[in-house]
Amino acid sequence: MDNKFYFECVNCRSKYFYDEVEYLCPKCEADNNSGNPPKGVVKAVYNYSKILELGKYLRTFDRLVNTQFIDLFPLYSVRSFSALRIGQTPLYSYTKIDGKAINFKLFLKDESQNPTFSFKDRASNLVSAFALENDYKTIVVASSGNAGSSMAGIGASMQQDVVVFVPASAPKAKLIQTAMYGARIIPVAGTYDHAFELSIQASKAFGWYNRNTAYNPMTTEGKKTVSFEIFKQLNQELPDMIFVPVGDGSIISGVFKGFEDLLKLNIFEKMPRIVAVQAKGSPNLTNNLHEKNFNFIDCNTIADSLAVKIPRNFYMTQHFMNEYQGESVQVSDDEILDASLSLAKQRGIFSEPSSAAAYAGMLKYKNEGKIAKNCKVVVLLTGSGLKDIHSVEAKLNLPKPVEPTLDAVKKIIAK
Ligand SMILES: *Cc1c(COP(=O)(O)O)cnc(C)c1O
Ligand SMILES: [Zn+2]
Repeated sequence: MDNKFYFECVNCRSKYFYDEVEYLCPKCEADNNSGNPPKGVVKAVYNYSKILELGKYLRTFDRLVNTQFIDLFPLYSVRSFSALRIGQTPLYSYTKIDGKAINFKLFLKDESQNPTFSFKDRASNLVSAFALENDYKTIVVASSGNAGSSMAGIGASMQQDVVVFVPASAPKAKLIQTAMYGARIIPVAGTYDHAFELSIQASKAFGWYNRNTAYNPMTTEGKKTVSFEIFKQLNQELPDMIFVPVGDGSIISGVFKGFEDLLKLNIFEKMPRIVAVQAKGSPNLTNNLHEKNFNFIDCNTIADSLAVKIPRNFYMTQHFMNEYQGESVQVSDDEILDASLSLAKQRGIFSEPSSAAAYAGMLKYKNEGKIAKNCKVVVLLTGSGLKDIHSVEAKLNLPKPVEPTLDAVKKIIAK
């Protein structure tokens, strides 16, 4: 592993050997306080010139595919990964919206097809593999829902012990799922931030490996795999735009990082336009990207996976958005609900609100004429609707039972 990669702090740009830092940059971590986004998140930077050299006989990207991208992971072997099929999700293509032809190419990347039904499995996969290679038996995570159930499921497939700290108010379906996988759930009488802090104290006290987002650099390295896949599924063509739902900013950072790795390997020349989609009721990351004095507001949105007051991966997202001219758009809860209904009715894809938000963002861009002709546009659908049926319930009228006679049915049909 010696010169395969190093870590770089996104704030002070200090560089560290891979075994010098496990989580945050020690210089920046010391100044962190709970009212602000944490500084010192680190990014893995690979030995790109060495990878290029190896690519002499086969085109670099083809070689990466053949070796399952091992050169771009902080791991010894791809055999360390879970046996579950993580990632390799479908990329569906469409020529119509609302039954009308569109003049661009629309693709939906359906991440609900991951083993625990959300995008989070990509991060858990890397964390589990890293834990295996580094002899960690127990993994701990603080989560408001999907990250916990994901770590529990992927950990179960690896026979690793998983401990999940959750705010006591977390959605029931996600907790039941976590418990089914056999993880130990520790509900905290407090907020997600309390759960987060407590999980870090516990990992230090008990030697557990910590999966927290914007803390453990493996999460970004796992999330970036979606970009490798999109490029491959588009027959090695770059999409023009990608819409990504954003809360803490970890998924979007992963998307940027994946394309950045390939960019540094000269596999293409430019970054796609990456659009951060936030809920209007939880606009804290995109509203503060260019602010000196942060103004973080309390959240009020049906998109519970996007409801984040202080975005944990703020600085890494800001770093990527500045470097590669990222864009942003905000959508209302009504727009999110409409988008989830269209996705379900027109595509047969039932997305949770946080996921449908990305589709709503794309529709808004389209209506504002911001999608150029013939563009390849990808929307990242991050999680399954079955994880959060409560929020769409109000939009539906489930029918009342009928008498078991054909006459009763005729009456209803006639209405
Ligand atoms: C976690 C999550 C998001 C938001 O990701 P961030 O990394 O917090 O920006 C979006 N959709 C779903 C389904 C999620 O679970
Ligand atoms: Zn630093």
